[in-house]
Amino acid sequence: MTNAALTPTIPPRAALPETRLSVAQLRQLDVPGPRYTSYPTADRFVEAFGAADYAQALRQRAEGAMVGGAAPLSLYVHIPFCESVCYYCACNKIITRHKSRGVGYLELLGQEIDLHVAELGPGHQVQQLHLGGGSPTFLSDEELAQLMTRLRQAFQLRPAAEVSIEVDPRTANPQRLRNLMAMGFNRISFGVQDFDEQVQLAVHRVQPLSQVRELMDEARALKFDSINADLIYGLPKQTPESFRRTIAQVAELRPSRIALYGYAHLPQRFKPQRRIQGSELPSGEARVAMLGDAIAGFIAQGYVYIGMDHFALPDDALAVAKRQGRLHRNFQGYTTLADGDLIGLGVSSIGRVGATYSQNAKTMEEYRDALACGNLPVVRGLALTRDDLVRRTVIMSLMCQGRVDFESVELAHLLDARSYFERELQQLKPLEELGLVTVDDKDIVVTALGWYFVRGVAMVFDKHLQADKTRERFSRII
Ligand code: SF4
Repeated sequence: MTNAALTPTIPPRAALPETRLSVAQLRQLDVPGPRYTSYPTADRFVEAFGAADYAQALRQRAEGAMVGGAAPLSLYVHIPFCESVCYYCACNKIITRHKSRGVGYLELLGQEIDLHVAELGPGHQVQQLHLGGGSPTFLSDEELAQLMTRLRQAFQLRPAAEVSIEVDPRTANPQRLRNLMAMGFNRISFGVQDFDEQVQLAVHRVQPLSQVRELMDEARALKFDSINADLIYGLPKQTPESFRRTIAQVAELRPSRIALYGYAHLPQRFKPQRRIQGSELPSGEARVAMLGDAIAGFIAQGYVYIGMDHFALPDDALAVAKRQGRLHRNFQGYTTLADGDLIGLGVSSIGRVGATYSQNAKTMEEYRDALACGNLPVVRGLALTRDDLVRRTVIMSLMCQGRVDFESVELAHLLDARSYFERELQQLKPLEELGLVTVDDKDIVVTALGWYFVRGVAMVFDKHLQADKTRERFSRII
């Protein structure tokens, strides 16, 4: 491909969804809020839920499996290491250049896998496996292959399983991609963030377009089932104009999926972000423009807007699931897999088994100490109440389908939805007046404009959040 062929075409602003809202209204709506990869959200987990509760949830799953009633199973493995820090980072990671740390970590993961097999029994079928981080490609190909072998000994990866890995383009080359495919990975996700050099310098993550293009071309030639690109808007030095160039460049690279995240500047919580100059961050209005441009730009380039932060080409499984109303949401974002159990392995990983959530120790020391004592390294979690389960249904329906059908909530939970949510339906009225939702006797529907603020609509049904007015730990909605 020539450089000329990659000259960005600026997406037409005419396709920008009508916002009609005044700046004052936008400010009022742009409040901090969760991304709802779970409900209740992870900040609600409590230490009263520990390893013994998690082990019990695993045993209940095993009993269900014996009578053929186990939920679909996914695995998430967290690899925490990165060679260099990105200033916007809010992940649980360990910055190190000592590659030898991977060896010891694989041993710990092996112990954790053994503890799971002890509770579950071997050979549970897995529909989805995801390696995230940190940077999974911090590990060498030999180490990754070793991990995959270890996982395959403990679990049975179904032939059609989605096996995905996050790849930092700075740690990969075409040969690495070929090796990943040989190990069984069929989905790949590249951290792109922004192609503008000034932005890349400002966030300490320099990776030229040519490098990402070479990798994406190779991934396509290898026929990975899905190629994802992660982008971030709201970074320092970004402007709506510079971001439109990135949008066009990404669209021309043609990843099958695009995840677009809003940068949450929370320097009091995330130390690397203290290196970002607040004065270099784009304004709230510029963020709205960037999100609007991204939605308009990717749609104009043939992508389907999946919701909140995801786009996909029309033939991608995510777009097909959206059309068929089969979209779901888990800790990695939108997914095609029906609600099921998720086992999180590795330091800080979050899992969901039965009606529980659990989280592993966040520091390597705590994680290692628990395993050294022969304990599952779960340090906090939550057993969901009936009310949590009802609200999870509603919040996930809003986030995934943009619609809540009262009758299906009533059938699933045996209650009268309109009286159960009487207060919430009152609270939706101002959002209805702004044109973000419509409500009638049958359902709640998020409008095209409402998708910008779908988190804000979901927040109305978040009982924990409604009782807690200190929300600054969350990112802003737009
Ligand atoms: S953003 Fe990703 S690659 Fe960068 S430091 Fe954080 S975890 Fe590592």
